[in-house]
Order: sequence, then C-alpha cells, then structure tokens
Amino acid sequence: MEIARLPAMKYLFGPVNSRRLGKSLGIDLLPFKTCSLDCIYCECGWTTTRTLERREWVPTDAVQAELDSVLASHPDIDYVTFSGSGEPTLHSGIGRVITHLKTHYPQHKVAVLTNATLLGDKAVQAELHAADLVVPSLDAATRKAFARVCRPVRGVHVEKLIDGIAEFRQSYPGLMLLEVFIAPGINDSEADLAALKAAAERIAPDAIQLNSLDRPAPEPGLVSVASSEQIEAIRAYLHPLQVQIVRKRAADEPAPWDSTAIFREILAVIDKGISEITRLAVATGIREGDLAKTLQRMAAQQLVIIDGSTGAVQRRY
Ligand code: SF4
Repeated sequence: MEIARLPAMKYLFGPVNSRRLGKSLGIDLLPFKTCSLDCIYCECGWTTTRTLERREWVPTDAVQAELDSVLASHPDIDYVTFSGSGEPTLHSGIGRVITHLKTHYPQHKVAVLTNATLLGDKAVQAELHAADLVVPSLDAATRKAFARVCRPVRGVHVEKLIDGIAEFRQSYPGLMLLEVFIAPGINDSEADLAALKAAAERIAPDAIQLNSLDRPAPEPGLVSVASSEQIEAIRAYLHPLQVQIVRKRAADEPAPWDSTAIFREILAVIDKGISEITRLAVATGIREGDLAKTLQRMAAQQLVIIDGSTGAVQRRY
C-alpha cells in the first residue's frame, strides 16, 4: 500500500483518520519493508528484509527533526503512531523518539503498533513504557497457525512471543489493545481459537480488536474475508474478554456514534468499571472527541452521569 507522506517528509505520513486513534500522525522507522514477520495479509506487501536485528535503521535525529517541524505548529492530532512499512521496535532509537515526544509534545498521545516479536526484550519493554497505547498483534497462539499466517523469521516462537506480551503487560502502565487478524480456514479452527482465548486471558489486555481482510492482500486468493457472522461468533466465543470488531466504514456511510448499539457498547464498558474518558475511548474504539459528544447525548437521555469536576462517567440506574 502506498503510504501518504507529508510534503518533503521521509519518515512521517498522514495524518490519517482512524476509528481507533482519531487523527493519527504516522512515523515509519524502517526502510521498506523490514520486519520480523511476513504476514499473508500485510497491506505493505511481502517482507523484503526479514530480520530480528535491532539497529538504527534510519537516523533517529532526522526522525526527531521531522517531528519537530510538524508538531511545532500545534496541529490537530490525537495520536502520534509508530507503524508504517515494518516492525517499529526493530529500530533501536524508538525509545529516544518516544521520550522526545513525551518531553516536548505531551499534548499528543503516543501509540505503538507492534507485531510483539520483541516485546519480551527488557530493553524494548523499557523503551515502550512511556507510550500511551501499545497494540501488539497476536494472530494465532498455536505454532501451525502462527507459522501459516505470520511466517516469522528464524528465532521467533509463538510461545515466547505470548510470554513476552504477558510479561510486558505486567509492568506497562498504559493501555493495551490486542489485535487479532482472522484468516478463515487458517487460524479459526476450534483448537486455534481455544489457544488464542487462553493466551488472551493470560495477557488480559484492555480489549481485543478483531480484524479481517478489508483491503488487498500481497497476493490475491491467499486470504479470504471473514463474514460478519463469523466475526460475531468469534467475539461471542471470546466472551467475557472485551472484544471490539474493527469494521471498515464506507466513505459515504454516516458515523454511527448516535446509534443505540453504540450506547449499549459504551454502557457495557462502563459496567466493567471503566469511567475515565481516555480509557473508555480506547476500550470502545471511538475517538475521544466523538465519545465526549456521545456521552453528552447519553447524559441528556439519563443513561449516564458525568462528574462535572473529574469528567468520570457512571451509568445512571
Ligand atoms: S507484522 Fe505488520 S508489517 Fe510485519 S508483515 Fe505482519 S502485518 Fe506486515
């Protein structure tokens, strides 16, 4: 997929609007396409450099200079997100860039989308500690399905990868969404889903995000699209884990924030004891600004109470 770069920017792209993150400015720390996995659904295409080597793949100072040139003008951005054309934790300067962002631009949240292959590394864990949101992928918890979907470089083992996410979760103070891509017929057997559920229960993320193909895969015919019924059935199977379904919205489809379904989704999250709006936004996948407006409407309909001084949200019984 071609990534929209800002004019004259080498390492930044977007900002793009995403349901999960709102307005997000992307940072790409890797040369195309450097990753420890070679997922069959990767929107960037096949991995050309499959590696676990951590190093300064692009100059950290140059990335920070680009960030300064964009963020100094106080753009309307919700998140600065490490993603792009490879695995961002392969870059040994990611911790420095996160520290730079949190020191100089604390008004922007920082998200890291990672394939989790290095999350067991203590140095990586320390470097991601200050991020507001980490989204590790876990597409399978059995060796066979993991090998078929993610095609890892030698040295990556799914058991260790799960250990790494679980260990990171213990010390990481921010929000964690566990992203799961469903490839029908490849990682959705009963045994695969049982292993995935056990791993997710052990990790205990703030929520799971279920994803399926909604754009071209590197090779046509390799992955099929999961139907909404399949995805809903998997969501039900994973209960009581909190699960969000990542739906692609058509360009002309109105934002669904006012629907009663969204009200129910928000109330279900509040019932789990989450009352702070940032956490609610992440757990529901609704942009914070949209969520604030929806909560006002819910308050007007006597569904919730919003504390005027703290902003905490409670269900009204
Ligand atoms: S981990 Fe991400 S970047 Fe790497 S191959 Fe998989 S989808 Fe693509």
